[in-house]
Amino acid sequence: MEFGEKVMALMERAERLAEPAYRQIERTIDRNQWKVIAAFQKHKVSDFHFASSTGYGYNDRGREVLDLVYADALGAEAALVRPHFVSGTHTIGTALFGVLRPGDHLLYITGKPYDTLHKVIGKPGDGTGSLQDYSIGYDEVPLLEDGSPDYPAIARAIQPNTKVIGIQRSRGYSWRPSFTVAQIGEMVRFVKEINPALVVFVDNCYGEFTEEQEPTEVGVDLMAGSLIKNPGGGIAPSGGYIAGRADLVERAAYRLTAPGIGGEVGAMLGATRSMFQGLFLAPHLVGQAVKGSVFAAAVFEELGFTSHPRWGAPRTDLIQAIRFTSAEHLITFVQGIQKASAVDSHVVPEPWDMPGYEHPVIMAAGTFIQGGSLELSADAPIREPFIAYMQGGLTYSHCKLGVLTAIQHMEDKGLL
Ligand SMILES: *Cc1c(COP(=O)(O)O)cnc(C)c1O
Repeated sequence: MEFGEKVMALMERAERLAEPAYRQIERTIDRNQWKVIAAFQKHKVSDFHFASSTGYGYNDRGREVLDLVYADALGAEAALVRPHFVSGTHTIGTALFGVLRPGDHLLYITGKPYDTLHKVIGKPGDGTGSLQDYSIGYDEVPLLEDGSPDYPAIARAIQPNTKVIGIQRSRGYSWRPSFTVAQIGEMVRFVKEINPALVVFVDNCYGEFTEEQEPTEVGVDLMAGSLIKNPGGGIAPSGGYIAGRADLVERAAYRLTAPGIGGEVGAMLGATRSMFQGLFLAPHLVGQAVKGSVFAAAVFEELGFTSHPRWGAPRTDLIQAIRFTSAEHLITFVQGIQKASAVDSHVVPEPWDMPGYEHPVIMAAGTFIQGGSLELSADAPIREPFIAYMQGGLTYSHCKLGVLTAIQHMEDKGLL
């Protein structure tokens, strides 16, 4: 962990620069931490709620209270929080299938959704049981050049059978801006003016606790996210949550288990305490990760690279994109992040042809939870314009170590 003078000087410059942004992030941590603790207190969370259940999991009071605490922490009427959701995609799919019926129409108004959702939406007659295979119509309205929603096109695309409006809050792995909760509120007002019965759904992955409000506090009807991202606080072993209007959450629960059973059954298999404690930790850890993203943006901007969002821009998710000038910079960055991990630091990631991707992809992920991306990780497809996507970091110091290690490697290779 020896850094040269140049790298140390860069660190100090970047931290001085980012100081006001850090103050702002710390205020957001406070608000969200207090909001989460208030939800625990309101529902009188006690040690016995952390007990495990087996079999059907009938009368698992911990599971019931976890749902109530999540709902309050997210400003929603109801929530369904389960380790049985295998991933974010499964959680989002469950929410959409819960609400949509054959003949209905789903309209995404923030452009093409995240890659793993393409197969959930599917194609008519694809035989996979996708939304379109079940005769649910689908359209998406591309974003404008500047990354904002195309309101006139949205108005034209809403059909009489449109039931759900889909919004993706985070940029995912694209160079577009993420949508703030205020912007999502504007989208809700716009579409509800056209038809107040529309159900607005938000893919909230990577967004939780980065701002002081959640989409469900600005009129969104239903949202979903992954517990191995922000709200799991780095320790929930797996799972997802769906939150929003009680009737819609109930329908999603019928889809997760079975009609008539819903959320009243489901053994928690020992995960309850980690899910409570992860939620308690989440506001702080999300703040650490966001500070890490701001730091990365600041140092790479100082070095003349382009970052998105810029270091001083408001944040609404964890993802920090950095555009490098060559494949070698990109690979060195990702390898530096891996080298700074507590887990698997001895492994050197290399680009490989991942199924489903057109270009070789390189990934750094030295994580305690497999694929956990509130933990420091980085991914990059090896293609122009050479963009690395970095996210997470359970501690700010670790984020800094990752970024500085990457820069030291670039310096050692004569790339700076
Ligand atoms: C991560 C993510 C998903 C899907 O999550 P998985 O857990 O990888 O299935 C969906 N949407 C967005 C915006 C995400 O970041």
